[in-house]
Amino acid sequence: MAIFISDDKISEIRNTTDIVDIISDVVSLKKAGKNYIGLCPFHTEKTPSFNVSPDKQIFHCFGCGIGGDVFSFLMKHDGLSFPEAVRIVATRYGIEIPTQRLSPGQKRKINERENLLNVNRQAMNYFRHSLLERASGKKAMEYLNKRGITKDTIESFVLGYVPEGWDNLTNFLIKKKMSSTFLEKSGLIISRKSSSGHYDRFRNRIIFPIFNVSRQVIGFGGRVMDDSDPKYLNSPETPVYNKSRSLYGLNMAKDKCRESKTVFIVEGYFDLLALHQHGIINSVATLGTSLTMDHVRILRGYIGKTGRVVLVYDSDDAGLKAAYRSIEIFDKGYVDARILVLPTGYDPDSYIFKFGKKSFMDAFSRAPGIIPFLIDFAEKKHGDSIEGKIRIISELKGPLAAIKDNVARSLYVKELSERLGIDETAILEKVRDISAKNKAKESKIGLKPIYPSNLQKKGKKSEYYGRTSNESKNRIERQIIAMMLQFPKILHEIKERDVLDCFVDSNLKSIGQSILDYKEKLYNHDRAPGDEHEFANGNRVSEFMNFIDDQEKKSIITSLALEEESWELEGCIKLITQFVETSRNRRSKGFIEKQIKEAEEKNDQELLIKLLIEKQNMAVLKQKQKMALLNRSIREA
Ligand SMILES: [Zn+2]
Repeated sequence: MAIFISDDKISEIRNTTDIVDIISDVVSLKKAGKNYIGLCPFHTEKTPSFNVSPDKQIFHCFGCGIGGDVFSFLMKHDGLSFPEAVRIVATRYGIEIPTQRLSPGQKRKINERENLLNVNRQAMNYFRHSLLERASGKKAMEYLNKRGITKDTIESFVLGYVPEGWDNLTNFLIKKKMSSTFLEKSGLIISRKSSSGHYDRFRNRIIFPIFNVSRQVIGFGGRVMDDSDPKYLNSPETPVYNKSRSLYGLNMAKDKCRESKTVFIVEGYFDLLALHQHGIINSVATLGTSLTMDHVRILRGYIGKTGRVVLVYDSDDAGLKAAYRSIEIFDKGYVDARILVLPTGYDPDSYIFKFGKKSFMDAFSRAPGIIPFLIDFAEKKHGDSIEGKIRIISELKGPLAAIKDNVARSLYVKELSERLGIDETAILEKVRDISAKNKAKESKIGLKPIYPSNLQKKGKKSEYYGRTSNESKNRIERQIIAMMLQFPKILHEIKERDVLDCFVDSNLKSIGQSILDYKEKLYNHDRAPGDEHEFANGNRVSEFMNFIDDQEKKSIITSLALEEESWELEGCIKLITQFVETSRNRRSKGFIEKQIKEAEEKNDQELLIKLLIEKQNMAVLKQKQKMALLNRSIREA
């Protein structure tokens, strides 16, 4: 169990917190009955299935299955560790927490993150000092000046420089008594392969510190000042730096993104600096990776679901590649995406320096959406001969089929049909062919709803969301767990009759056991037996979640706690009785089968005959029961 801040303290923090208040920061919530609903920040959807319960202080998404309490929300959403989440909530509500209760392992992990951020900060200061104060920084400064970067920009983006040489930073940091193994983890220094010792990752480069939205330095980018390769170099992924979730400049851009509901995405550091310097503050840069679903989700948090993402490229080719790559991302991300390709020979940096902000914004106002961009391009490439038109359609049927939104797709098909003067149905047919093929592929793979990409990578989707076909088999088991969560009066009965023993689903079984253990704990603590209903009504469910480490189980619990049913004792006992009986029957049947097999193997004829008779009797009994039921229904009909 991951508790290193005392249980009491966690309870205190939880009881002070309002989960609605915390989640409202990042998800716009609407009241719906007892709960609040909104668009899930963990998967993309058009109709809200993300529920927050102020009574139970939990959240659950019925679309993707993620659920938990206020701490798990922050952990998931902001990538925090449990203690970090607890601390953030505590700080917000002015609660002080003593931290000495951390277990050594957890302490190490938190320390590591803090130390990495600290090393990065020191490195940033070193780079900055090298640029501004040292003689060797002069040529770097000249380079920046030549590129039109102002003092203000250098200051606000804390640009730096690392001099020529193999171990400038290494020596600087080791002198500060930092271990080289630890420094290796930061990605700033690399261990030598051929001999002992370490060397600097970044050498003789302009340095761009990469900040997270809280303005902590999480990594660095470095650019050479001549034509040598590689032009750009980035920090590797570290415990504090995740490329597919980080966007350069977002810490500066976020407020303006929120205000303008628009964000420009460029590829390079200098492109970004140039836009910012020209007052286009709502721009960010991807960091040596292509745009990911996570990026879009993060940006959507700022620009809103009606917001606009503008991808800025320096050539048709780059724009084209990006367009194909991002159709699905944007289709799933439900934001309006535009592609802005600058005139040949210009990148955002050189363009804005030459033509200025107004011209850039004019170009932006004409920037087409992804599909219109692809249509434009295909028309330019293939011309308007009959062969040309056939090629255009064959090039576009794939992208059109990739659009999951039917309305959007038919609008684009219509546009294409008008532009080419070809019948809409002919185009639709081509698109449907592809869609059908895609679907066939998907159904072979199995269920394929939209899973958050970070989970997909772990290959855990089916277990994680508990949405496998087992779900129907487990229906009764799920119902019993829901009962246990919502109707604690039944807990005594469950325990006495060993109901959990009959569970087939190991996750549900272990959740049930945790509920019983939790109840036990409450009894032994300060609660009188009559207080059980509190478990269901108050904060108890969210407090109980604390006892569950496993994200998959958490998700099951929140979904079952939120799907509220009304329970009455008699019905519950009936359900339990039925469940226990059928599962024991099933088991005894299985048991006999197993014995028969063993007897056959041992060639024990006597035992075999006995068992076969027993099996037959069971079958007869079952047949009799069936007939009785049938007779009754005939009579009643
Ligand atoms: Zn969701």
